[in-house]
Amino acid sequence: MIDLHTHTNASDGTYTPQELVNEAVSLGLYALAITDHDTFAGYHVARPLAQAAGLRLICGIELSTTYPTPQKPDGKTIHVLAYWPTGEPHEDFCAWIRELQESRRDRNRRLIARLRELGVNITLEEVEAIGGSITARPHFARVLIEKGYVDTISSAFTRYLGECAPGFVQRDSAPIAESLQRIQQSGGVSSLAHPVRLGNLTHAEERALVQELVELGLQGIEVHHSDHQPEDRIRYAQYAEEFGLLATGGSDFHGANKPNIRLGSGKSGNVAVPDEMADALYALRSEYLHQS
Ligand code: AMP
Ligand code: ZN
Ligand code: FE
Ligand code: FE
Repeated sequence: MIDLHTHTNASDGTYTPQELVNEAVSLGLYALAITDHDTFAGYHVARPLAQAAGLRLICGIELSTTYPTPQKPDGKTIHVLAYWPTGEPHEDFCAWIRELQESRRDRNRRLIARLRELGVNITLEEVEAIGGSITARPHFARVLIEKGYVDTISSAFTRYLGECAPGFVQRDSAPIAESLQRIQQSGGVSSLAHPVRLGNLTHAEERALVQELVELGLQGIEVHHSDHQPEDRIRYAQYAEEFGLLATGGSDFHGANKPNIRLGSGKSGNVAVPDEMADALYALRSEYLHQS
């Protein structure tokens, strides 16, 4: 068993890198990738701990990118995972990540102002105090709960923070084409995160969108994910085969911020990512090394 999609408390998970490594070791995972939102801080802490524990740890990240569509000219949000199975990204990629962190901070300031207009009095300092190296909406949700505005993380999203909620503010994200290019140039491998969340698309529309992303440089697709039904998994495996994409998978573990998702096995055991997917990721990377 492996897990190629996990979050630590450096982004919006609740496990420390040490706790995540311990859990991966006690589950006997063959490989673990840390894919925090917009930061490598959790990976960097985990690296020596994994090494000491004999755990294969893969450097990863999850980026929120934008893709303009006729229905949404200013861009729909698409999450992209990136992996550096045998190393770490080059410094210019890390510099770009720091720019993304600044745009996230700007979104967070605007989100605080918007919530204030809605009569919610929380401060950026309060939210950042529980954030890790980045502050994400689940941290806002926790402060909304602590201050009694809502009872659960999910109602915080429905009432205030979600894309269809009154508090939502758009973030200035990077276009997906640029993101895919930067990942590849930095020696990484990209994968389309949880394609089931691409929106309300027919299967034909979904397939066409994946094909467009492949033309923009997409290298992989997340076949296994805790939000995927068995029929989704079959469809995404077909896209992988048809478009020559690397198939990847993971639980999207967030600790107590998504309490029903277990590391490695997802929701009630609905995720089981084969070890071969890690091997294929390593193999793709070594092929790339031989070409360049
Ligand atoms: P951000 O990157 O700050 O925009 O926060 C996005 C994160 O919020 C996602 O990666 C999820 O972990 C979480 N999230 C988004 N929508 C919801 C929701 N409806 N319920 C719970 N968590 C959510
Ligand atoms: Zn998250
Ligand atoms: Fe995501
Ligand atoms: Fe995620």
